[in-house]
Amino acid sequence: MAHFSEDRWTDFVRGVSAPGTAHELERHLESRCPECKSAVALWGRIAQFAAKENEYAPPENFVRLVKLQFANSQSEQPEVGLIASMIFDSATQPLPMGVRSGTASTRQIVYEAEGLTVDLRLERKPHSSTFSATGQVLDKDAPLSWLGNAAIVLWTDKGQMVTKTVANDYGEFQFEFEHEDQLRISIITANRKTVRIALGNLE
Ligand SMILES: [Zn+2]
Repeated sequence: MAHFSEDRWTDFVRGVSAPGTAHELERHLESRCPECKSAVALWGRIAQFAAKENEYAPPENFVRLVKLQFANSQSEQPEVGLIASMIFDSATQPLPMGVRSGTASTRQIVYEAEGLTVDLRLERKPHSSTFSATGQVLDKDAPLSWLGNAAIVLWTDKGQMVTKTVANDYGEFQFEFEHEDQLRISIITANRKTVRIALGNLE
């Protein structure tokens, strides 16, 4: 069965599909295609928080911004946005005695750019090459205030999209990925430039 492009789904969740197309999309969803179901869920959430931000910026702008990023997922990652600077990395900190010998290996890295602080925790699952990433996007200038309106996209250094997610209302996000070096993360928010994070070598 043919899938529909992200483009179609972004129109669909905003209720601006052509009538015939909307019907086709609904029928496709009824077929319970998992891939498209998750695309709709993601775009629905993006449209939702874009609507919440309505008083600050037109939701259209944010949806368009996110769409632009995702449209490039099959080709080259657009070289736009600011490279965040790393301000903390637990891997470079001396650990208290006893901790180093433990089996838990969560690495915490904190990045800053464009008035955002991104707190990222990476944990390699035991006996596997799967990493679990959890994080939070915070407003650097307003302590304890987080951004719930952020889309997070993981890329390879060749610009292929690996995965994408949307932060919850507390700015928290979570995703998993297979080990690979030189991965990059884009943090897309409504009123700021896209922030790019280079994960570098994870081992
Ligand atoms: Zn599908």
